[in-house]
Amino acid sequence: MKRRLSASVKRLILLVVFLTMVLPVMAACGSGETSEGAGDGAGEGRLRVTATTGMIADAAKEVGGDYVEVVGLMGPGVDPHLYKASQGDIAKLEQADVIFYNGLHLEGKMTDILVQMAKSRTVVPVTENIPEDRLRILDQETEDPHVWFDVRLWMMAVEKIRDTLIEADGEHKAAYEQNAAAYLKELEELDAYVKEQIASIPEKSRVLVTAHDAFGYFGDAYGMEVVGLQGISTASEYGSKDVTALRDLIVERGIKAVFVESSVSSRSIEAVIEGARQKGHEVVIGGELFSDAMGAEGTPEGTYVGMVRHNAETIANALK
Ligand code: ZN
Repeated sequence: MKRRLSASVKRLILLVVFLTMVLPVMAACGSGETSEGAGDGAGEGRLRVTATTGMIADAAKEVGGDYVEVVGLMGPGVDPHLYKASQGDIAKLEQADVIFYNGLHLEGKMTDILVQMAKSRTVVPVTENIPEDRLRILDQETEDPHVWFDVRLWMMAVEKIRDTLIEADGEHKAAYEQNAAAYLKELEELDAYVKEQIASIPEKSRVLVTAHDAFGYFGDAYGMEVVGLQGISTASEYGSKDVTALRDLIVERGIKAVFVESSVSSRSIEAVIEGARQKGHEVVIGGELFSDAMGAEGTPEGTYVGMVRHNAETIANALK
């Protein structure tokens, strides 16, 4: 009797030990796993990034991969110089952990809202780390914001995006570094491809005539003379004097093709073509170039790499 009692007491002690020590540990492990698993599965807990232009959103997706949810504000054909944030955009900006924008006054009409947003979250101009001596300076000391046309400069923007994501979400540092390295390698190849395409045009014909001066960096980086009809921003006006000057240049140099842009009206460039025709010189529209916005989502031109490839091929095919 005494021994039996002692055996059941032992069993009772074991049960108490189990209940007080082992069970809570199991429960803790279980709940920890559950919440982490659910977080990943639902896409919650991912870093929320909002980007102004499509090119920036594309780079943030490439570098962020699975750990970042990217929302872009400006779609295909949108002119960033004139873009004003809508109520829906303000909500998208307010929901973001990190906001990326181009800077260099590209998003001129969004300055106030970006300053406002910077009070409560990380707001980063991706062009911030480009050395000043690599920037094109226009009249009145304005910097040319169209840096994405020099792939080497855009690689610096990608590095800025990488460093910002690591700072905001250090837990996934290794993934961001790996994604960025792969993307930067792809951009290095893209840079070489553009050089190759432009080099296939006879030297005398390496003149790029477009409706707004978005391609200055492209010209500098890949060896083309760039002639624009408008000032640097589509917000500035052009006069009939500019149309006449450009017409005369086209006739004189025997330029075969001029280019229209997806985010700018082609009316001005058509006036130039008509003027040249009246002077007996045939010049055609060489194709559509993507300047300040990418192509439709799901098409090759809907990515930065595809857009730059398209531009280089269109220019080379029309001028060679
Ligand atoms: Zn522009």
